[in-house]
Amino acid sequence: MPNLFNLFYIPVFYIPAWPGQDIVMNELSCFEFQQGRLFVGCLPHGRDLILSVEEFCEDVSIQMATFSVIGAVSSATIGAYDQKQQVYVTVKEEAPLEIVSCTGNVSLKDGKPFIHAHILLADEHGKTTGGHLFSETIIFAGEIDLQELTGRPMQRAYDDTTGLMLWK
Ligand code: ZN
Repeated sequence: MPNLFNLFYIPVFYIPAWPGQDIVMNELSCFEFQQGRLFVGCLPHGRDLILSVEEFCEDVSIQMATFSVIGAVSSATIGAYDQKQQVYVTVKEEAPLEIVSCTGNVSLKDGKPFIHAHILLADEHGKTTGGHLFSETIIFAGEIDLQELTGRPMQRAYDDTTGLMLWK
């Protein structure tokens, strides 16, 4: 029995989809994936955050995923993209910091799992800094949850407009 909510919202927001279909809505281009394996665990003490996630993905044959991490780092390298110069400006934080939030994704670049992640870090006073996550960022302790996505994996390639390696 349709109610007012359904009558109003379904025609506006409901877009029929089937696996693998390319959905374009208001210029937002997305692919549909299925949820694969869900991994939850600890990141290795003293190792680089990005490299350890990339190596894990290679070891268990993950090509696409989303993930989040909480924990602490002993040092970090973060950055922001200078959109005019089209280069990353990086900052090295040589101090123990809490990982307030770190979210990222895994896709393919040159046929290998590639991590894109952003991180928000806090010191003992609660002051935060953050940005695009780089190596080296050394894990003190970290807990990750990683959701594998199955379907045609997305590939990164150079984008002329931004100078970034974007999904093509
Ligand atoms: Zn980024």
